[in-house]
Amino acid sequence: MAKTAAERKKAQRARQSKADNRKLELQLDTQEVEMLERNRADRRPDRAPYDMSEYIALLIRQDDARMRNRIKRISTSKCSKCGDAPPVKSCIMSGDSQCWVTTGWKKLILTI
Ligand SMILES: [Zn+2]
Repeated sequence: MAKTAAERKKAQRARQSKADNRKLELQLDTQEVEMLERNRADRRPDRAPYDMSEYIALLIRQDDARMRNRIKRISTSKCSKCGDAPPVKSCIMSGDSQCWVTTGWKKLILTI
């Protein structure tokens, strides 16, 4: 069930109060800022829009879930050169066209 604005703010404050939180500066172009502003509001019609930090943090968490699912799906295969399950971090056959490090990693890139 979706959290209320107050619950979301409370959870955000709890996350931000953790000592290991890091403050990052982003460089976004005009179009990206417009997308951020539009979508953080459009996803919560007639409600307080997502806070910018909250919105970006949620996108990161959403991508992390997608990434874990993708890795789970490809982990049943193996690099045909070293036999390791993807994602293979390094392989002695890197550069060989049959090696996962050479071409298989492209299954993990972000696409629009
Ligand atoms: Zn390999």
